[in-house]
Amino acid sequence: MPVIAKQADWQFASKSKHTADNKRTRKQRVEASYVPAIGSLPVSRFDVKVPSKRKSIGDHKKTQKRRKPSGGDHASALAPAAPAGMVWDSENWSCAYDSLMSVLYDIWSDKPKNWTTIFRGMNANMKMLSTGFRQFSKEEIYFETARDRVRAELNASDPQSFPYGKAGTAIHVLVDCLGSLDLVKGLEVSYCRGCTTQFEVEFEGRAYIDCPNSHHSSTQEWLNSWILRTTGTACAGCGGRVYKERRFGKSIDLLLFNLGSDEVEIDLKMKVPGEKAARVLELRGVVYTDGAHYTARIIDREGCVWRYDSMADDKCVEDSWEGILEGIGRKGVVAIYAKKSNKR
Ligand SMILES: [Zn+2]
Repeated sequence: MPVIAKQADWQFASKSKHTADNKRTRKQRVEASYVPAIGSLPVSRFDVKVPSKRKSIGDHKKTQKRRKPSGGDHASALAPAAPAGMVWDSENWSCAYDSLMSVLYDIWSDKPKNWTTIFRGMNANMKMLSTGFRQFSKEEIYFETARDRVRAELNASDPQSFPYGKAGTAIHVLVDCLGSLDLVKGLEVSYCRGCTTQFEVEFEGRAYIDCPNSHHSSTQEWLNSWILRTTGTACAGCGGRVYKERRFGKSIDLLLFNLGSDEVEIDLKMKVPGEKAARVLELRGVVYTDGAHYTARIIDREGCVWRYDSMADDKCVEDSWEGILEGIGRKGVVAIYAKKSNKR
């Protein structure tokens, strides 16, 4: 029974127009390019900014852009305030960043101190992002400035995946960069169940999982197979089957999934095995594409679903769970899970 996808499955099912043939290093292995590079549509073609079925009561209030800090007003208000949503940059198309980072901000704003520590412990980009989020929450900078600072770093390190101008962003490479755990090494343990043979190898830590195809049926299944798999090699000691088990080098609070197939089911909860006990993360957002533009659904900590579109007048409108896993004419490309925040 094959347990993992072959390497070949990962690579370049379709070539991103922003990824040149030569010079592929990090982006190369990715996964990243199984979704064609995407930019944006002219506003006129974009017709779904307001779901027709939404209710009228309190609508106005709810759909107001929470352009400012999400502070603590959110939990106490009867009608939940809409999450803050970044505004699309028409000069330098930004919908990939907007969608992913607005979800991340909603998570961050649950418990800023806590999440700042977590983001800072992941990698330099997330550290910078959390600093920007903090400044934005204090109204010291625009929300988009937090985005643009990180974007500048990304562009400097990989201009092909993260171009400026009217060009698309390789969102799976973005997930790769934001979801890396540069400061933590993971551990891959190979062991045989028949004898005591065991090897341990370190690997680059990460908080993202690639699901390039429908080889596994759901995000949870993809995680499970990423964590534990059998190998083709026989144990040198006894000839038994060798297993490989990956261990996150730290407890995982945030987990991103790169989705390459819309047949992969997006689980609402994610069980992450840990040394002591499994940890449960909750789905907090999904980024979608219609082939030309990225949008997202943000699931706030109260479980309210918001449809977010950085090109729309109302960035966030209240939405339902319906179709959240399928995407309604769109394809889910990234699923974001986070540990549950306790109420403040
Ligand atoms: Zn053995």
